Amino acid sequence: MKQEIKNLTLEEIAQFLTSSGEKPYHAQQIALWIYKKDVSNFGEMTDLSLKLREKLKENFVIQDIRLIAEKVSEIDATRKFLFQLADGQKIEAVLIPSINRFTACLSTQIGCKFGCIFCASGREGFVRNLEPGEMVNQLQFMIRNLNLLKQRVNNVVFMGMGEPLDNYDNLIKAIKIINHPYALNIGARKITISTCGLADKILRLAQENIQVELSVSLHAPNDKLRSALMPVNQKYPLKSLISACQKYFLSTKRLVTFEYLLIKDVNDTQRNLRELRELLKGFKGKVNLIIYNPFKGINFEPSSIERAIVFQKVLKTAGIITTIRQSKGRDIEAACGQLLLKRENG
Ligand code: SF4
Repeated sequence: MKQEIKNLTLEEIAQFLTSSGEKPYHAQQIALWIYKKDVSNFGEMTDLSLKLREKLKENFVIQDIRLIAEKVSEIDATRKFLFQLADGQKIEAVLIPSINRFTACLSTQIGCKFGCIFCASGREGFVRNLEPGEMVNQLQFMIRNLNLLKQRVNNVVFMGMGEPLDNYDNLIKAIKIINHPYALNIGARKITISTCGLADKILRLAQENIQVELSVSLHAPNDKLRSALMPVNQKYPLKSLISACQKYFLSTKRLVTFEYLLIKDVNDTQRNLRELRELLKGFKGKVNLIIYNPFKGINFEPSSIERAIVFQKVLKTAGIITTIRQSKGRDIEAACGQLLLKRENG
């Protein structure tokens, strides 16, 4: 069976070339055709020999992603895309505009197995991991789209549907393609991986020698509450998670961001605030406070902005860099934790 060439890093394409008697440097030409010139068949790669083009055709395909629906936020122009994959499965991705930049929020799995109780994405269970090419294709679609407007994608966040670190190998390959100068050429520091806290994978990521940003969904300052909100905490309690984040900082020198959804009377009490301050005191990281996005079927209410400001003030006084972040695309259910599986009409 033919392989999707976008599932291969440039190094892997070079290995294929070497093993089939070709020069490995053609990998760069092939990547330029696929990612910069955006061609969809090997026949168009006119600076490669006919023999090599035939070899590529015999072994690979160049697949794309099919847009089924798009919604645009009337509040902030965030765009949510519903895509169909080659096997008929559907995924969502989001393009978020802000002043002078665009951020692409990509999905890494179809569904999610971690079952955080405030999140819509995992509610219908887990279907499968996305292949590297399926992640890259979400981004390539947005780049193509913005090119028409003479704009470009500046940041990439793996914060869509799924837990990125649970699809580790495919994620790293996708990042290598996105980052490579001959492919999509987006700097590692412009790429953020968001995780619900898989401490063992954070430790592995720290050894990868790629300086991507790490964003950890914290959402609770003690194990009892965190385990109730996020079952993953039973396997990786706060002590192991914070220790893994510390090691990530020490080996990459990148400040870890802790996301903290503010849910009224659930995790926003004075006691929670004191615990959060103690947990993160002295830690080289940042806190993003996000007021919870209500979602039908989930019985939580958002904290008030006043509460968020109190949290910010206390944390800042303790020396912890803290921002209040507004989720984008709330009116089209494109905000954090709102992406859903099997949404037929976007
Ligand atoms: S927050 Fe992330 S890890 Fe948790 S259920 Fe949602 S998608 Fe999965």
